[in-house]
Amino acid sequence: MLDRAQVLDAGDPLAVYRERFDLPEGMIYLDGNSLGCLPKATAGRLEEVLREEWGRDLIRSWNTAGWIDLPAKVGGKIAPLIGAQPHEVIVADSVSVNLFKLISAALALQSKSGRPGRKVVLSEPGNFPTDIYMIQGLESQGLATRRLAAREQLLAALDEDVALLLLTHAHYKTGELFDMVELTRAAHAAGALVLWDLSHSGGALPVDLNGCEADFAVGCGYKYLNGGPGAPAYAFVAERHLEAAQQPLSGWMGHAAPFAFSDDYTPAPGIERLLCGTPGILGLSALEVGVDLIAEIGVENLYAKSQKLSEFFRQCLAERGLDLELVSPTDPAQRGSQLSFRHEEAYAICQALIARGVIGDFRDPDILRFGFAPAYLRFADMAEAARHLAEVIESGEYRDAAFQERAAVT
Ligand SMILES: *Cc1c(COP(=O)(O)O)cnc(C)c1O
Repeated sequence: MLDRAQVLDAGDPLAVYRERFDLPEGMIYLDGNSLGCLPKATAGRLEEVLREEWGRDLIRSWNTAGWIDLPAKVGGKIAPLIGAQPHEVIVADSVSVNLFKLISAALALQSKSGRPGRKVVLSEPGNFPTDIYMIQGLESQGLATRRLAAREQLLAALDEDVALLLLTHAHYKTGELFDMVELTRAAHAAGALVLWDLSHSGGALPVDLNGCEADFAVGCGYKYLNGGPGAPAYAFVAERHLEAAQQPLSGWMGHAAPFAFSDDYTPAPGIERLLCGTPGILGLSALEVGVDLIAEIGVENLYAKSQKLSEFFRQCLAERGLDLELVSPTDPAQRGSQLSFRHEEAYAICQALIARGVIGDFRDPDILRFGFAPAYLRFADMAEAARHLAEVIESGEYRDAAFQERAAVT
């Protein structure tokens, strides 16, 4: 298997990009869907921002280094990765905060269009927790009503009370994809707006927000975009809503003229109205490096490789006779850049793998999740990771008490 992997690596047009990342020696990192790896260029860029822009030029850098335009500039670079126009995307805050802004904006838009009775925000049970919690927060303020319907029941649940359909394109646990075209069309037909969470797809697979006429989207900077821990997130508002969509976190940076210091809030005419407070320039600068690198490699190329990597990983497991229960779709076209397996000892297996230098992750209660960030993984890593996984399970190594203890972050 290792021989075949080496042949595949030799013929891999993306193999050259591995060198552009700072990867720890001897580690196989299958968790790029949780925290992307560090691009080598990030340290140099941050050093420059620290020493020259902040250290030397200080406050002048808001103008001279273009800090003030950075949220829109980096948003504009993310736009082509997700099928958006540059002026429809901005980088700000976290995914959670952007969800709050855009759910609120959608509810207000419905109200303005003469549908004030529509308050239901529809999602699926088992969606990423923060998406559901943010709906609940608005519900506790009397502004929204949460409705959860299983995947198969979503279309039926789209009735005349639904204001917004909020779904995650690639499911964080299973990697299963929603058909964005079909669901967006169905929501619109029912008079609802749509907000897509692209956290597990942006930068990993082709997404076409305008192609499917999406209204709103959010996505994560620290996963496939390699922006670093807690990197700022991005938000998309379709051009047709830019003028009417208002969000309630009316901070000064979203004002039409922040430096007029007026007593009255007037939202910026464009996507800048999604800003709230002062943007974190260090985080934005690191994110820009990650986005540039992903854009240079190309999302289509990345997705093509990630499908090959995950299929090869499955073949390696099969050839070792390891029959794990796959909870991700078997058809690579139906899943994002990951494979998840169910095993009652998933947590301990994950810990035993980490002890061997294979970093995957565990998702409660019994899911073993492997992300295949194709920018820096090799086919040889797949063969090796499969060997380690088979050895850990066959030897019972994971039963060691040391692998049962749970840390705060799993
Ligand atoms: C990772 C992730 C988030 C992260 O939200 P933050 O507020 O940025 O921590 C949100 N939604 C989904 C689906 C995710 O996978």
